[in-house]
Amino acid sequence: MEDTIITAALLEKYDRPGPRYTSYPTVPEWRDDFDANACLTAFDKARRHEDAPLSLYAHIPFCRSRCAYCGCNVALNAEESVDRYIACLEAELAMTAPMLAPRRRVTQCHWGGGTPTFLNESAMRRLFGAFADYFAFEPHAEIAVETNPASVTESQMRCLRDLGFNRISFGVQDLDPAVQQAICRNQTASQTRAGIELCRELGFRGINVDLIYGLPLQQETGWRRTIDAVIAMRPDRVAIYSYAHLPARFPHQASLDGLPRPDAPQKYALFALARQRLLDAGYAAIGMDHFALPEDELGRALSRGALNRNFMGYTVQHAPDQIGFGASAISEVADCYLQNLKDVDAYCSAVEQGRLPVEKGMQLSRDDVIRRWVIRKLMCAFMVDKELFEQRFGVPFDRYFSEARQALRYYEREGMISEEGRCLKITPLGSVFIRNICMVFDAYLNDRTKEIFSRTI
Ligand code: SF4
Repeated sequence: MEDTIITAALLEKYDRPGPRYTSYPTVPEWRDDFDANACLTAFDKARRHEDAPLSLYAHIPFCRSRCAYCGCNVALNAEESVDRYIACLEAELAMTAPMLAPRRRVTQCHWGGGTPTFLNESAMRRLFGAFADYFAFEPHAEIAVETNPASVTESQMRCLRDLGFNRISFGVQDLDPAVQQAICRNQTASQTRAGIELCRELGFRGINVDLIYGLPLQQETGWRRTIDAVIAMRPDRVAIYSYAHLPARFPHQASLDGLPRPDAPQKYALFALARQRLLDAGYAAIGMDHFALPEDELGRALSRGALNRNFMGYTVQHAPDQIGFGASAISEVADCYLQNLKDVDAYCSAVEQGRLPVEKGMQLSRDDVIRRWVIRKLMCAFMVDKELFEQRFGVPFDRYFSEARQALRYYEREGMISEEGRCLKITPLGSVFIRNICMVFDAYLNDRTKEIFSRTI
């Protein structure tokens, strides 16, 4: 990328709505009428892979207040709902674990939100205890939690470590006070620094900082200060996400409409600046938007081609089935996607009535599985080995994707793809437009669905 010229014209040309491909097919394709029997069949199939490990996710939807950029499923200031919600998570675990039995080995567990550290220590202990009652964590399991550096306390971090959490992520987003004020998320660099230092002392690994580019009022000088301050804290990982301004889907984002936001070239310039400074500081670029120190597991997994991507982001653990618990949580079970009810009350009511709280889902066809494999390879490794594809699926790559040939040639002429032997490789220029390139393999995109997604730059 360092020698690659990325012009404003190119950025404008490719800055279109497009999926981030945390799943394929993407969520808008999942069916609202996905029935309970289909869920049971999926769990039944998953249950038979006795030796395969599991990946678990818990959604903790609670937050004290709403950040203006938020695109998550949250319940605000709902202390009185916490007890009921944890009881429902326990009930959902009790309902789900027998459907997977005797399969119980866990190699990845992630608490996201919302703000998982909205829970006090006794609620955390109670919830983690419920997970440990039903599942067996492997000694090397990756057990991760998201936190807000402005509100997480020292005793919460100690409690999490004591429970067995070994990964932690700090949602920093931007340290510029003007940007923070605009997005309603005030915090200081010293809060994050102290959190990182304590977590390091406590033995957390893979300590991560999340940043967002493309926010209102972001400018090069302030952003550079943010990046340099974060680099000085030396987290093991940094994730730099593109802000998705979608006020039609998230009406509270409309409060940001009156503020100047970087346009596509400015937005890309912010990303490029962060990327270059992180590379200069010794971080390796991982996939689309992650960076890791070379000694971190993500960096090592990248070098040996073992990187995976799922709803929780890039990971080194390979667990074929992911089970999500809680409101809006997503599961990927035996080539089937499921999403729980988003509304906390509706989710709790379903669980209290002894029903699986599933709102929508999709059974993947063979074609979906094939295209998902290709898209994941592109997103993780920036390449597809046609030989490997053919061994796995028993069909010639070029014949299977004959309808994509024209589009692939087009990207080749643009200098974004190259064919090396039997590998389709994304060039440094193409890596900037990886979401656009993956769209070539998406069989569902049409003019209606395209407009639902955030812009690719
Ligand atoms: S803390 Fe995260 S989930 Fe909660 S409102 Fe802010 S962005 Fe949304």
